[in-house]
Amino acid sequence: MSLLTIEGLLRRFGGVAAVDDVSFDLREGEILGLIGPNGSGKTTVLNMLSGFLAPHAGRVRMRGEDITGLPPDRLAQRGVLRMFQMTRVFARMSAFDNLLTAGMARGLSEAESTKRAQALVEELTLGPVQYLDAGQLSGGQRKLLEFGMCFIEPPLIAMLDEPFAAVHPVMREVMAKFIRTRHAQGFTFLLVSHDMPIVVDLCQRAVCMNAGRVIAAGDIHAVLKNHAVIEAYLGE
Ligand code: ADP
Repeated sequence: MSLLTIEGLLRRFGGVAAVDDVSFDLREGEILGLIGPNGSGKTTVLNMLSGFLAPHAGRVRMRGEDITGLPPDRLAQRGVLRMFQMTRVFARMSAFDNLLTAGMARGLSEAESTKRAQALVEELTLGPVQYLDAGQLSGGQRKLLEFGMCFIEPPLIAMLDEPFAAVHPVMREVMAKFIRTRHAQGFTFLLVSHDMPIVVDLCQRAVCMNAGRVIAAGDIHAVLKNHAVIEAYLGE
């Protein structure tokens, strides 16, 4: 069943259409990959779906209800969250306290936040660094912390923009497992990523963009075999 229905999204910068007549469905409970070469318009789509950028044309519906152009906080109330949105990491606060604060900012009690923060520290392998200031964490550890902060109260739809970029393979696998676990619990993901092995591993379906348009969509293996997709990546 379609959770988000995206129809004819258009966004121009200057005279140029960065996103041009983009339509696709995000289905309930899936991990959908949004792929395509650099500059193809993926982040601009994500910005529109998460309320950071207004579309110049087109519609976004959530379970049939028009949510086009709603600001990020209103979308967050409906469970649509872009990962960095809830992840203002305080550099001078410990990793654990950042998790605690994120939970309380989302309306959880201190006791509940503490319980969830402890479980997340374990799951995200942040135990050894949990009492260090967040500013002292490595880039990958900080990404893991951001995952924890975002998922201390799991969003219905999580939108992730290149979460694996420049992250050590061991931590990448922790992230992938974290996403798989939430997916198994029924949560929905829209994943922008350049990392094809991880996209193939995690996603059931993909939408491929090139020069602002959707050039292929559907089963991940079919998309990756599509000639237009192969050409778009070769041209990169
Ligand atoms: P991707 O995420 O696939 O790399 P983007 O959505 O970031 O692609 O960019 C798509 C196109 O829109 C690019 O040509 C980029 O230069 C342009 N673009 C994106 N954001 C802006 C902006 N704020 N102002 C002007 N041009 C932009």
